[in-house]
Amino acid sequence: MSNDSQQKHQSKMERKKQVVDASIERADKDKGLLLLLTGNGKGKSSSAFGMIARALGHGMKVGVAQFIKGCSDTGEEAFFSQQESVTWHVLGEGFTWDTQDLAHDKKTAEKGWAVVREMLNDPSYDLIVLDELTYPLSYKWLDIDKVLADLAARPPMQHVVITGRGALEALKDAADTVTELADKKHAFRDGIRAQKGIDL
Ligand code: ATP
Ligand code: MG
Repeated sequence: MSNDSQQKHQSKMERKKQVVDASIERADKDKGLLLLLTGNGKGKSSSAFGMIARALGHGMKVGVAQFIKGCSDTGEEAFFSQQESVTWHVLGEGFTWDTQDLAHDKKTAEKGWAVVREMLNDPSYDLIVLDELTYPLSYKWLDIDKVLADLAARPPMQHVVITGRGALEALKDAADTVTELADKKHAFRDGIRAQKGIDL
Protein backbone atom coordinates (compact mmCIF):
# COMPACT_ATOMS: atom_id res chain seq x y z
CA MET A 1 0.00 0.00 0.00
CA SER A 2 1.33 3.46 -0.88
CA ASN A 3 1.92 6.00 1.87
CA ASP A 4 -0.99 8.07 0.59
CA SER A 5 -3.55 5.25 0.61
CA GLN A 6 -2.18 4.02 3.93
CA GLN A 7 -2.85 7.47 5.41
CA LYS A 8 -6.35 7.64 3.87
CA HIS A 9 -7.16 4.23 5.30
CA GLN A 10 -5.88 5.26 8.73
CA SER A 11 -7.94 8.44 8.93
CA LYS A 12 -11.03 6.60 7.68
CA MET A 13 -10.61 4.01 10.44
CA GLU A 14 -10.06 6.74 13.02
CA ARG A 15 -13.33 8.43 12.02
CA LYS A 16 -15.11 5.10 12.17
CA LYS A 17 -13.69 4.41 15.62
CA GLN A 18 -14.93 7.80 16.87
CA VAL A 19 -18.47 7.05 15.67
CA VAL A 20 -18.44 3.56 17.22
CA ASP A 21 -16.95 4.83 20.51
CA ALA A 22 -19.60 7.56 20.72
CA SER A 23 -22.44 5.10 20.22
CA ILE A 24 -20.95 2.70 22.77
CA GLU A 25 -20.79 5.57 25.25
CA ARG A 26 -24.43 6.50 24.57
CA ALA A 27 -25.58 2.93 25.35
CA ASP A 28 -25.23 3.18 29.11
CA LYS A 29 -28.50 1.63 30.33
CA ASP A 30 -29.28 -1.86 31.67
CA LYS A 31 -32.59 -3.59 31.08
CA GLY A 32 -34.13 -7.04 30.99
CA LEU A 33 -34.45 -7.56 27.25
CA LEU A 34 -37.09 -9.18 25.12
CA LEU A 35 -35.36 -10.78 22.15
CA LEU A 36 -37.13 -12.30 19.19
CA LEU A 37 -35.48 -14.70 16.74
CA THR A 38 -37.74 -15.36 13.80
CA GLY A 39 -37.67 -15.99 10.03
CA ASN A 40 -37.27 -19.17 7.96
CA GLY A 41 -33.51 -19.58 8.20
CA LYS A 42 -31.80 -22.09 10.47
CA GLY A 43 -30.33 -20.78 13.71
CA LYS A 44 -33.18 -19.45 15.85
CA SER A 45 -33.29 -22.06 18.60
CA SER A 46 -29.56 -22.71 18.49
CA SER A 47 -28.89 -18.99 18.96
CA ALA A 48 -31.15 -19.02 22.02
CA PHE A 49 -29.23 -22.02 23.38
CA GLY A 50 -25.99 -20.12 22.81
CA MET A 51 -27.32 -17.34 25.05
CA ILE A 52 -28.14 -19.94 27.70
CA ALA A 53 -24.48 -21.03 27.67
CA ARG A 54 -23.40 -17.39 28.02
CA ALA A 55 -25.77 -16.80 30.91
CA LEU A 56 -24.65 -19.96 32.72
CA GLY A 57 -21.06 -18.84 32.31
CA HIS A 58 -21.99 -15.78 34.35
CA GLY A 59 -23.66 -17.89 37.04
CA MET A 60 -27.15 -16.81 35.96
CA LYS A 61 -30.32 -18.88 36.47
CA VAL A 62 -32.16 -19.99 33.33
CA GLY A 63 -35.65 -21.26 32.58
CA VAL A 64 -36.62 -22.87 29.28
CA ALA A 65 -40.05 -23.71 27.90
CA GLN A 66 -40.28 -25.51 24.57
CA PHE A 67 -43.59 -25.39 22.74
CA ILE A 68 -44.55 -27.99 20.11
CA LYS A 69 -41.61 -30.34 19.89
CA GLY A 70 -42.12 -33.61 18.14
CA CYS A 71 -38.53 -34.55 18.84
CA SER A 72 -37.75 -34.59 22.55
CA ASP A 73 -34.34 -36.22 22.11
CA THR A 74 -32.35 -33.10 21.46
CA GLY A 75 -28.75 -32.56 22.50
CA GLU A 76 -29.64 -29.20 24.07
CA GLU A 77 -32.21 -30.75 26.38
CA ALA A 78 -29.87 -33.62 27.33
CA PHE A 79 -27.09 -31.15 28.12
CA PHE A 80 -28.81 -28.15 29.66
CA SER A 81 -31.42 -30.03 31.71
CA GLN A 82 -28.45 -31.60 33.58
CA GLN A 83 -27.29 -28.17 34.71
CA GLU A 84 -28.22 -27.20 38.23
CA SER A 85 -29.15 -23.64 37.24
CA VAL A 86 -31.47 -24.66 34.39
CA THR A 87 -35.16 -25.56 34.60
CA TRP A 88 -36.33 -27.21 31.37
CA HIS A 89 -39.99 -27.64 30.48
CA VAL A 90 -41.28 -29.36 27.34
CA LEU A 91 -44.81 -28.08 26.97
CA GLY A 92 -45.64 -29.22 23.45
CA GLU A 93 -46.89 -32.72 24.20
CA GLY A 94 -50.52 -33.10 23.35
CA PHE A 95 -50.62 -30.55 20.54
CA THR A 96 -52.19 -31.83 17.37
CA TRP A 97 -50.42 -30.25 14.41
CA ASP A 98 -53.50 -30.27 12.24
CA THR A 99 -55.72 -28.86 14.97
CA GLN A 100 -58.69 -31.17 14.66
CA ASP A 101 -59.48 -30.16 18.19
CA LEU A 102 -58.96 -26.44 18.75
CA ALA A 103 -60.41 -26.50 22.26
CA HIS A 104 -57.96 -29.23 23.28
CA ASP A 105 -54.97 -27.40 21.79
CA LYS A 106 -55.96 -24.18 23.49
CA LYS A 107 -56.25 -25.92 26.82
CA THR A 108 -52.82 -27.55 26.43
CA ALA A 109 -51.25 -24.25 25.38
CA GLU A 110 -52.83 -22.38 28.26
CA LYS A 111 -51.64 -24.99 30.75
CA GLY A 112 -48.17 -24.53 29.27
CA TRP A 113 -48.41 -20.76 29.55
CA ALA A 114 -49.32 -21.07 33.23
CA VAL A 115 -45.96 -22.81 33.74
CA VAL A 116 -44.21 -20.00 31.86
CA ARG A 117 -46.03 -17.35 33.87
CA GLU A 118 -44.71 -18.84 37.10
CA MET A 119 -41.16 -18.40 35.80
CA LEU A 120 -41.96 -14.88 34.58
CA ASN A 121 -43.19 -14.04 38.07
CA ASP A 122 -40.02 -15.35 39.66
CA PRO A 123 -37.22 -12.75 39.78
CA SER A 124 -34.65 -15.46 40.54
CA TYR A 125 -34.75 -16.34 36.81
CA ASP A 126 -32.25 -14.17 34.95
CA LEU A 127 -33.01 -15.57 31.49
CA ILE A 128 -36.07 -17.34 30.14
CA VAL A 129 -36.12 -18.99 26.72
CA LEU A 130 -39.52 -19.56 25.13
CA ASP A 131 -38.58 -21.81 22.25
CA GLU A 132 -41.09 -22.00 19.36
CA LEU A 133 -43.59 -19.77 21.17
CA THR A 134 -44.57 -18.10 17.88
CA TYR A 135 -46.65 -21.14 16.81
CA PRO A 136 -49.24 -21.30 19.61
CA LEU A 137 -49.60 -17.53 19.13
CA SER A 138 -50.10 -17.76 15.36
CA TYR A 139 -52.64 -20.54 15.81
CA LYS A 140 -54.39 -18.40 18.42
CA TRP A 141 -54.06 -21.16 21.02
CA LEU A 142 -52.68 -18.42 23.25
CA ASP A 143 -54.03 -14.92 23.43
CA ILE A 144 -51.34 -12.48 22.24
CA ASP A 145 -52.57 -9.63 24.46
CA LYS A 146 -52.41 -11.82 27.54
CA VAL A 147 -48.94 -13.10 26.62
CA LEU A 148 -47.68 -9.55 26.02
CA ALA A 149 -49.18 -8.36 29.31
CA ASP A 150 -47.48 -11.20 31.23
CA LEU A 151 -44.18 -10.44 29.49
CA ALA A 152 -44.48 -6.74 30.29
CA ALA A 153 -45.15 -7.52 33.97
CA ARG A 154 -41.98 -9.60 34.42
CA PRO A 155 -39.14 -8.44 36.70
CA PRO A 156 -37.33 -5.49 35.09
CA MET A 157 -33.94 -7.22 34.80
CA GLN A 158 -35.22 -10.56 33.49
CA HIS A 159 -34.25 -11.37 29.90
CA VAL A 160 -36.60 -13.34 27.66
CA VAL A 161 -35.73 -14.92 24.31
CA ILE A 162 -38.55 -16.04 22.01
CA THR A 163 -37.94 -18.17 18.92
CA GLY A 164 -40.05 -19.42 16.06
CA ARG A 165 -41.07 -18.65 12.48
CA GLY A 166 -43.78 -16.23 11.49
CA ALA A 167 -43.80 -13.99 14.58
CA LEU A 168 -46.87 -11.77 14.90
CA GLU A 169 -46.29 -8.05 14.30
CA ALA A 170 -47.41 -7.28 17.86
CA LEU A 171 -44.63 -9.51 19.20
CA LYS A 172 -42.07 -7.80 16.95
CA ASP A 173 -43.29 -4.43 18.20
CA ALA A 174 -42.95 -5.49 21.82
CA ALA A 175 -39.43 -6.92 21.47
CA ASP A 176 -36.27 -4.87 22.10
CA THR A 177 -34.18 -6.88 19.66
CA VAL A 178 -35.62 -8.63 16.62
CA THR A 179 -33.59 -10.82 14.28
CA GLU A 180 -35.06 -12.36 11.15
CA LEU A 181 -32.95 -15.26 9.97
CA ALA A 182 -33.11 -15.68 6.21
CA ASP A 183 -33.13 -19.07 4.53
CA LYS A 184 -30.55 -18.84 1.74
CA LYS A 185 -29.85 -22.56 1.50
CA HIS A 186 -30.54 -25.60 3.66
CA ALA A 187 -28.96 -29.04 3.35
CA PHE A 188 -32.38 -30.64 3.95
CA ARG A 189 -33.35 -29.68 0.40
CA ASP A 190 -30.42 -31.77 -0.87
CA GLY A 191 -31.93 -34.76 0.87
CA ILE A 192 -29.77 -34.56 3.98
CA ARG A 193 -31.63 -35.59 7.11
CA ALA A 194 -31.32 -33.74 10.43
CA GLN A 195 -27.80 -34.26 11.79
CA LYS A 196 -26.99 -34.83 15.47
CA GLY A 197 -25.14 -31.91 17.00
CA ILE A 198 -26.23 -29.61 14.17
CA ASP A 199 -30.00 -29.90 13.91
CA LEU A 200 -30.95 -31.76 17.09
P1 ATP B 1 -32.04 -24.61 14.92
O1 ATP B 1 -32.71 -25.36 16.06
O2 ATP B 1 -31.15 -25.52 14.13
O3 ATP B 1 -31.41 -23.34 15.35
P2 ATP B 1 -34.32 -23.17 14.00
O4 ATP B 1 -34.78 -23.07 15.40
O5 ATP B 1 -33.91 -21.93 13.32
O6 ATP B 1 -33.19 -24.25 13.87
P3 ATP B 1 -36.85 -24.44 13.36
O7 ATP B 1 -37.85 -23.83 12.48
O8 ATP B 1 -37.13 -24.48 14.84
O9 ATP B 1 -35.43 -23.79 13.06
O10 ATP B 1 -36.60 -25.90 12.84
C1 ATP B 1 -35.84 -26.81 13.57
C2 ATP B 1 -35.27 -27.90 12.68
O11 ATP B 1 -35.52 -27.66 11.31
C3 ATP B 1 -33.75 -28.01 12.76
O12 ATP B 1 -33.44 -29.35 12.56
C4 ATP B 1 -33.26 -27.17 11.61
O13 ATP B 1 -32.00 -27.54 11.10
C5 ATP B 1 -34.33 -27.44 10.61
N1 ATP B 1 -34.49 -26.25 9.75
C6 ATP B 1 -34.38 -24.96 10.11
N2 ATP B 1 -34.56 -24.15 9.05
C7 ATP B 1 -34.80 -24.96 8.00
C8 ATP B 1 -35.05 -24.74 6.60
N3 ATP B 1 -35.08 -23.52 6.10
N4 ATP B 1 -35.26 -25.83 5.81
C9 ATP B 1 -35.22 -27.07 6.32
N5 ATP B 1 -34.97 -27.35 7.63
C10 ATP B 1 -34.76 -26.32 8.45
MG1 MG C 1 -36.34 -23.72 16.51
